Amino acid sequence: MRINRIKDNDIANGFGITMSLWTQGCPHHCKGCFNKETWNFTDGEEFTEENLNYIIDNIDKHNVKRDLSILGGEPLCDENIEGVLQVCQTFKEKYPQKKIYIWTGYTVENFNELQKEIFKYADILVDGKFEEDKKNITLTLRGSSNQRIIDVKETFKENKLVLFDLKNK
Ligand code: SF4
Repeated sequence: MRINRIKDNDIANGFGITMSLWTQGCPHHCKGCFNKETWNFTDGEEFTEENLNYIIDNIDKHNVKRDLSILGGEPLCDENIEGVLQVCQTFKEKYPQKKIYIWTGYTVENFNELQKEIFKYADILVDGKFEEDKKNITLTLRGSSNQRIIDVKETFKENKLVLFDLKNK
């Protein structure tokens, strides 16, 4: 997996403060994408064990409680999914109470078997490509109205897709 960057303190991609990891490489090329520097699969840097240790060791740096957000690029494409799963597994083993947010341009109904593994770890998953004609800058955690904020834990419990209730944020 390649990554674009890690940001220690992010208040735009979660409810509260998150440490955010942008993966590198995106196959979707959505029209109007605000993050084109993450498209190229050879840019950015290789994700290393040091990066993983940095996340694990610094998630509560300076006594600030953070959750983890993973964005892209496309975290769940073939090139990145295994690395993302490794990050999520290690993170949840260490911090089971902390939330993991994931953004993907794929839609849940079309996930392949490996992508479905992310359900074991993610708490909130925002799915769907950015659609410029549905762009709405007032939306929470999303750029366009076709994208959905999925409550992964409730989806499992109810055995049907449950959208996150923004009243609970
Ligand atoms: S999925 Fe995200 S990063 Fe990829 S092209 Fe669409 S908006 Fe850009």
